Amino acid sequence: MSTPGLMMNRPLLISGILEHGAAQFGEQEIVSRETHGPLHRYTYADAAKRSRQLAHALAQLGLKAGSAVGSIAWNNHRHLEAYYAVSGSGMVMHTCNPRLHPQQLIYVINHAEDEVMLFDATFAPLVKGIAAHCPKVRAWVCLADAANTPAIEGVSVLNYEDLIATHSSDFDWPQLDENTGAALCYTSGTTGNPKGVLYSHRAIVLNATAGCMPDVLNLSTQETILPVVPMFHINAWCIPYAALVAGTKLVFPGPKLDGNSLYELMEAEQVTISAGVPTIWMGLIQHLEQNNLRFNHMKCTAVGGSAMPMALIAKFVDKYGVEVRHGWGMTETTAVATMSSLSRADRQKPAADQHAIVAKQGKAVSGIEIKIVDETGATLPRDGSAQGELMVRGQWIMERYFKAEQSALVDGWFPTGDIATIDALGTMQIRDRTKDVIKTGGEWISSIDLENAAVGHPAVAMAAVIGVKHPKWDERPLLFIVRKPGQNVEKDEILGFLTERVAKWWVPDDVVFLESLPVGGTGKVQKNDLRKEYGGVFS
Ligand code: AMP
Repeated sequence: MSTPGLMMNRPLLISGILEHGAAQFGEQEIVSRETHGPLHRYTYADAAKRSRQLAHALAQLGLKAGSAVGSIAWNNHRHLEAYYAVSGSGMVMHTCNPRLHPQQLIYVINHAEDEVMLFDATFAPLVKGIAAHCPKVRAWVCLADAANTPAIEGVSVLNYEDLIATHSSDFDWPQLDENTGAALCYTSGTTGNPKGVLYSHRAIVLNATAGCMPDVLNLSTQETILPVVPMFHINAWCIPYAALVAGTKLVFPGPKLDGNSLYELMEAEQVTISAGVPTIWMGLIQHLEQNNLRFNHMKCTAVGGSAMPMALIAKFVDKYGVEVRHGWGMTETTAVATMSSLSRADRQKPAADQHAIVAKQGKAVSGIEIKIVDETGATLPRDGSAQGELMVRGQWIMERYFKAEQSALVDGWFPTGDIATIDALGTMQIRDRTKDVIKTGGEWISSIDLENAAVGHPAVAMAAVIGVKHPKWDERPLLFIVRKPGQNVEKDEILGFLTERVAKWWVPDDVVFLESLPVGGTGKVQKNDLRKEYGGVFS
């Protein structure tokens, strides 16, 4: 029989992160672009005090352990306070994606049974439209002071500052079981209703701690991090928690996510690390190029959510001296599950080889295991060429969807719906989503690889590839291109460019030039919209 260890059994709790941050790094700064007015600036200690005040206010509103509190909000300091106050009290912080269709938003608010809704003034028109359909929400709280809280016809609106003002800044956080539900996030769901993922305190604390590691986000008191990834998208990849674990200065961009605003904030606040989806970085790099600017402080950008094209990696590294960390994760994996970073040996390789390594989605972070399987569920070899469905398991991976009766697991592993390869050293590369891979003549074409190749053309700003039905080949690739401003590259040149870079049978059958690509609430290209409009039949 094994011998029990003789250590304390202290639960992993989100309130523990807040109190650690306030006690150890109380002077560390949090800077936030507000919906109104100038930058807001305060310290970890101030944030902790206000979180505790909010915890009292929520209790006074009649909320109890297990109650859900929703948010429709940007990345800002009040949203951060809510992250800690709600979960720390044993309640569930449900971050809503404001870019969901209002019907879906109503669905998730009712499904989550939100009792209080915190919202930024920007979203007042949205609140006006949905409030009457959310009967369980008994308080709509604008994340502002009285002067900046709009009146909304038919809705009784409280303001955050008045709500917390009279409460004590001391609060006894409950000693919860670490498996208690802490935060709830719904998957974007291109078909059917969104599905909820209920994160436990344990999953978030473990993920946040792993996120600080040198080969993940490399967080410490020396760094300043700006999460562009929204706080409604998988808890901003847990950066609002990880920063307080490590004592890192936090900078929130609020509603302004365009290249110019991000650049100004990064420079003004000496941001060294940032994190977001590739579309955000394309906008930022275009702004730098058009205005001949440089980064003076940025050292590293973490990217995920969709594949980071190699051309963009090369630009960040070679032209702007910013290292790229390319991670993979999904709503069901709390935040990061795998991360690419360069080993010492990798750093001796030529630049192009290094970029190719970073273009892969990297190695499983400690605490996570990955494998690939074929259609029968048999494990495929780690040889870098066998492709199969990526399966994941680990300390912060979902077991079942919120309110689902059945587990989502297959033999203890979560099936991701992504097609991947894994090489002998454990480096994983996403080849495609199962539904996006183009099946042609019995073979598979990776839409991601084709998009990456197309974005390598200097006149191309964005690219997307879908499979279009074909009478002979089953499916053939159709390429969509958004040109860079002032460029007028044509189809033949693009196809010629691709012919030199991919197998002949991969070259798309046609190219459609668009002003922009349909981008969803989390910054990903909505291929379903493209399929609906262009997914006819090639002859
Ligand atoms: P979501 O839950 O909305 O964040 O979507 C998760 C999905 O995004 C994954 O299953 C992947 O298909 C995709 N994804 C996330 N990160 C990457 C990445 N680095 N490269 C390619 N696809 C990614």
